[in-house]
Amino acid sequence: MKDGRSATEFPRSPSNYRPSENSPKDSFRALLTPLRFLKGVGPMRAAQLETLGLKTVEDLLYHLPFRYDDRREIRKIQQAAVGQVETFLGKLVAVDKRFVPKRRAHILTGTLTDGSGYLGLVWYRVPPYLAEGLSRGQQLLVHGKVEQGIGAQKRIVHPEFEHVDLNEKDAEQRKTLPVYLRPEGIPLRAMRGWVRQALDACAVHLSSRIPAPIAARQGLLDLPRAMREVHEPEISVDPATLNGFASDAHRSIIFDEFFYLQLGLGLRKKSRSAKRGIAFRTSAQSLTEKMRALMPFSLTRAQTRVIEEIHGDMASARPMQRLLQGDVGSGKTMVAWFAALRALENGFQAVWMAPTELLAEQHFGNLSGFAGTLGVQAALLTGSMPARARTETLERISSGEIGFVVGTHALIQEGVEAPRLGLGIIDEQHRFGVAQRMALQRLAGSRKSAAPSLPQPDILLMSATPIPRSLAMVLYGDMEVSSLDEMPPGRTPVATRLFKEAGRAKVYELTRAELQKGHQAYVVYPLVEASEKLELRDATRMFHELSQGAFNGFRVGLIHGRMNAVERDEAMARFKLGDLQVLVATTVIEVGIDVPNATVMVVEHAERFGLSQLHQLRGRVGRGAAASHCLLVHYGKTSVDALARLRVMEKEHDGFKIAEADLQLRGPGELLGTRQSGIADFRLANLVRDARLLLEARKEALGWLEFDPALRRPESRGLREVLKHRWGGRLALGSVG
Ligand code: ADP
Ligand code: MG
Repeated sequence: MKDGRSATEFPRSPSNYRPSENSPKDSFRALLTPLRFLKGVGPMRAAQLETLGLKTVEDLLYHLPFRYDDRREIRKIQQAAVGQVETFLGKLVAVDKRFVPKRRAHILTGTLTDGSGYLGLVWYRVPPYLAEGLSRGQQLLVHGKVEQGIGAQKRIVHPEFEHVDLNEKDAEQRKTLPVYLRPEGIPLRAMRGWVRQALDACAVHLSSRIPAPIAARQGLLDLPRAMREVHEPEISVDPATLNGFASDAHRSIIFDEFFYLQLGLGLRKKSRSAKRGIAFRTSAQSLTEKMRALMPFSLTRAQTRVIEEIHGDMASARPMQRLLQGDVGSGKTMVAWFAALRALENGFQAVWMAPTELLAEQHFGNLSGFAGTLGVQAALLTGSMPARARTETLERISSGEIGFVVGTHALIQEGVEAPRLGLGIIDEQHRFGVAQRMALQRLAGSRKSAAPSLPQPDILLMSATPIPRSLAMVLYGDMEVSSLDEMPPGRTPVATRLFKEAGRAKVYELTRAELQKGHQAYVVYPLVEASEKLELRDATRMFHELSQGAFNGFRVGLIHGRMNAVERDEAMARFKLGDLQVLVATTVIEVGIDVPNATVMVVEHAERFGLSQLHQLRGRVGRGAAASHCLLVHYGKTSVDALARLRVMEKEHDGFKIAEADLQLRGPGELLGTRQSGIADFRLANLVRDARLLLEARKEALGWLEFDPALRRPESRGLREVLKHRWGGRLALGSVG
């Protein structure tokens, strides 16, 4: 079959992809069989498996080997090559367990022979089942990296091994064996056995419903076959390919996983753009034009481009759903303000929701001046406002008198109505859940006017945590994405250095030098109050210590999330004015704070923070003309991973690249925080490793939706069922099926 054939042709299925014939519903039921029904898995084992999230037969099937052992070739011991990972078959002629006082531990040694020579086996950590399971005379298949032992003998430390029945034919011992992540105490052998049972009983129930032309183009195997091959690979497949998750079988399963998500996201986008939005008009005497004249600087090219993208969406009669990504300091505020003005000049309201009071206050502070000059009625709405002021503001919003509102979650709480809502702006959108975003959209639905079919307001989501393209395709696959990929002029990169705890004196010294030049500094801690458990330095305690110690003689302030808004406001205001020189803080200052005179960011316990978070913190400095410093202090035994992360900070300054590294080092769950990661929690797919496959899957899914926009054709029936089963709940695809 030729590539690029149109999706409307519906050819025979390719030979490797047999579409499922069972009713999807029966299949889903079979796959949901609890694991305790497998032979050899009792309630106890089942509970152990559940600790890894394995509850059903389907879970077990999708629990792919994380590694494969190449045992296709059984070597003679005489030919054992030091440094190679090899497999040997022989008889155990000696076993010895003894206590080594110097190591204060037991060591288990054994000797294996196959007639050609002797191989030493060594275990430094000896789990009981191991010591009890080995005895002289046993036949073992051992596997591991060959080392030079004492004397001429070679050895393997911590070999993998299997007892071998000599009656088995040699050929059956040669294979590529799957290695599974498993709960402690469950032997690999048992896992392999259970997976085999699951395959035999249920593999046929895995639904293969990808349309034939796509399966053919992508060279997919059907799921039952792919699943068998990943768990019990043919010896003809190169284990390196398997270990790279790059076999045809792996690709087929991963493609399948991506495809349905992209299909769901595509469907969601289609259903939203079918709704009625507001077509905002442009006029010459408009607020946006007046604003251009008021600008204290000229917009960057990226800002101009993104404002055009947004205004373009706003002019359309379909509701906008656009994400604006841009590094800290890239100038998102002004872009969003231009979006708000477009709504305002058309007689609509614009509501801006920020994750913290501090930020809401700052945005309001930055924009209310412009609002005043332009004659826009603006208000701030936060939870900590006195009740009377709050009620009054709410009334002025719901009467339509106030056009521009900046606020916190308080905006979406009971009693808020914005009957003329034209644009909702959600700042630091990853701090909000989907439900909260939808609630903002619903403010438009006034309870007084009973109009049932109000047009949907436009939504602009903003994020200062740029994410890699692959992740954006997954998380925001159902919206448009704009990127501010250029910084306003005059920024110098923030010089970033790592320090061990022992180097703190130097950190303080560098900081004091900056203070003496008249600059200001942040010192950030991960916690508010002392926690004995974690032994972290905490902001409150260190505030006292630093004021009397390292920064004695300087004006030091404290700010953290547990202070009330008034106290925080005061501390922040004093820092902004330069009245405070050092601000000891928790991550409340992470988002959005803008003090150009601050040139030092010290992060204590930097090993505790994710890259994106560190990047955010670093973005608080380097906002003025002076050279700035980011000093990252890490403590104790910093893990190799954490250190690798910190090294990225030293080298890299581009938020998009840092996010890429964060994704690679920590995965999407950590990168995004728990709130958003649900959707990116793939069973197998890895957004770094499989980015190209994701692109393919997206292309195919969107292509299919061009052909069958609502999945109503007979060829899409199976697709629809599987989509509902997998993503219906998580993507809120109520209308599918
Ligand atoms: P972000 O919200 O993307 O982190 P801000 O909108 O707070 O960034 O902008 C950071 C700083 O840069 C602010 O002080 C802002 O006034 C300034 N700024 C924004 N756009 C420009 C520009 N085009 N030229 C110069 N300075 C700018
Ligand atoms: Mg901002």
